[in-house]
Amino acid sequence: MEILRGISVSPGIAIAEAVVLDAEEYRIPRRFTGLEEVDEQCDIIVRAFAASIEELTAQRTELHGHVGQDAADIFNWHLGVLQAPQIREQITELIREKRYAAAYATSIVMRTYQRRFLKMQDRLLAERVRDVQDIERRLLRHILGETREDLAHLTRPVAIVAHDLSPSRTAQLSKAQVVGVALDVGGAASHTAILLRGLGRPAVLGVKDLSSHISGGDTIIIDGANGLVVVAPDEPTLAQYRSQQQTYVRIRDELGALRDLPAVTQDGATFKLLANIEFPHEVPVCLEQGADGVGLYRTEFLYLREGGEPSEEEQYEAYREAIESAGGKPVTIRTFDLGADKYTQEKSFEAEPNPMLGLRSIRYSLQRLDMFKVQLRAILRASTAGPVRLMFPLIISLMEYRQARMVLHDAMEDLDDMGVPFRRDIVTGIMVETPAAAIQCRDFAREVGFVSIGTNDLVQYLLAVDRGNERVSRFYTAAHPAVLRVIHDVIRTCKKAGVDCSLCGETAGEPLYTMLLAGLGLRSFSMAPHNIPEVKKLLRMCTVKQMERVARRALSFETERQVVNYLRSQTKKMLPDDPI
Ligand code: PEP
Ligand code: MG
Repeated sequence: MEILRGISVSPGIAIAEAVVLDAEEYRIPRRFTGLEEVDEQCDIIVRAFAASIEELTAQRTELHGHVGQDAADIFNWHLGVLQAPQIREQITELIREKRYAAAYATSIVMRTYQRRFLKMQDRLLAERVRDVQDIERRLLRHILGETREDLAHLTRPVAIVAHDLSPSRTAQLSKAQVVGVALDVGGAASHTAILLRGLGRPAVLGVKDLSSHISGGDTIIIDGANGLVVVAPDEPTLAQYRSQQQTYVRIRDELGALRDLPAVTQDGATFKLLANIEFPHEVPVCLEQGADGVGLYRTEFLYLREGGEPSEEEQYEAYREAIESAGGKPVTIRTFDLGADKYTQEKSFEAEPNPMLGLRSIRYSLQRLDMFKVQLRAILRASTAGPVRLMFPLIISLMEYRQARMVLHDAMEDLDDMGVPFRRDIVTGIMVETPAAAIQCRDFAREVGFVSIGTNDLVQYLLAVDRGNERVSRFYTAAHPAVLRVIHDVIRTCKKAGVDCSLCGETAGEPLYTMLLAGLGLRSFSMAPHNIPEVKKLLRMCTVKQMERVARRALSFETERQVVNYLRSQTKKMLPDDPI
């Protein structure tokens, strides 16, 4: 048994067989082969080694003279490993003796080597693990071909283990039998993490070198709340986690009873608890959890799929479905927030040196007016189906907001020309998720219809910490005093100006921040649907005075550690059984 530590991103416990995806997201199934196929599987190995050697030799020749000695040494090392008979023999031995299929046997042998390198004291040798991973990927590519296994077609419950998983691949999990996810990289506020929380899958990210420790078919436990992955658990550990799993189910069932109760405090203050969605089919789940509407519809996920940009008609259908499913409850549609870690078709963006500060979000929309207008027309057309608001992401200046509004008017004119009905008085607002928008909030409040605070990005940009990078994840926290003060200012400014203000970053769904945010004056929270019952439970137990006291005290601290410790103690008092 081995216990590995990572970053807790989505609570819950998953106990399942691991399916390991390599960096290119191949699935390496635990597959066996019949006696009659053994020779054929061994031939596949011989061919994969030969093709890999040929490919590497060609690359080395092509690069000859263009790269330095270091790069040449790496090529030679890879070639040396592939040309030495040892690894090939070990793989074919597994095929012959254990009847493993070629890909699975390769993965097992290469991962044994990776583990060996990882244990080496010499740092330079330990770093060779990356090279071994590279060789494994090359071999697998030749064994499996370019076809990607479709996660949607898994037939039994599994836990996904991978180096990384793109947001678009993560989105596919909703249809798959994936009960949990553990990755080598990633931070708690990455879009992959947000999706996993939204899907309600236990997940641990940033478990350095995890995918090298695990082979497909190993039983693993993903302990989402504590950020742990247990590999090959012993019986007592399994029993302990199974009992914890039951406790989770009991707590969830108890919270389910709150569904139809209003989010009202002990002293009668009413709160709006909205849901964040990525797909229209999630709306019924939001309503089941008691959502008062959709506070954030991340439409960019329509674009993160194979097969080109969605047409106006496809978009119209998606938006209309979301609005109609909400059954008269309000839906806030955010225009596409592409770029940074969310790429259309992965290739249509040039790689950027600093993508989080690059051509993303509203900046990209305003450069791709054709694409932007298509989306705005689709949203406008759908707006006749129910109460809708339109939100622009990552705004840094009033000019940007005004430009976006101008494009909206162009889209309206297009529809007028075609005689297509739409809601002319659609309310438009902005996400306050950059320091610039927060600091200039008073100016924005004069023009915008509403504001939604996006703490996921706001924290990243205020603290200069990449939200998706596990190496700096310990610096990423909404509890930083600077973040609290900025959030407080925005809420206060909006209140003074009479502008509706909500918060749709992940902090809205964390019970740790509920009393603080409510005490700062926030009355509208938008979060992953599964978080609604717990936040509601907490609000219903408190008074506004009590929460204002908590907020005042939290604002008085100078360090994030004091803030977290204080909030934890206050929340624990109210929710003693919850894993906060
Ligand atoms: C945010 O930044 O807080 C937010 C809600 O938007 P996203 O997570 O999609 O960037
Ligand atoms: Mg954002």
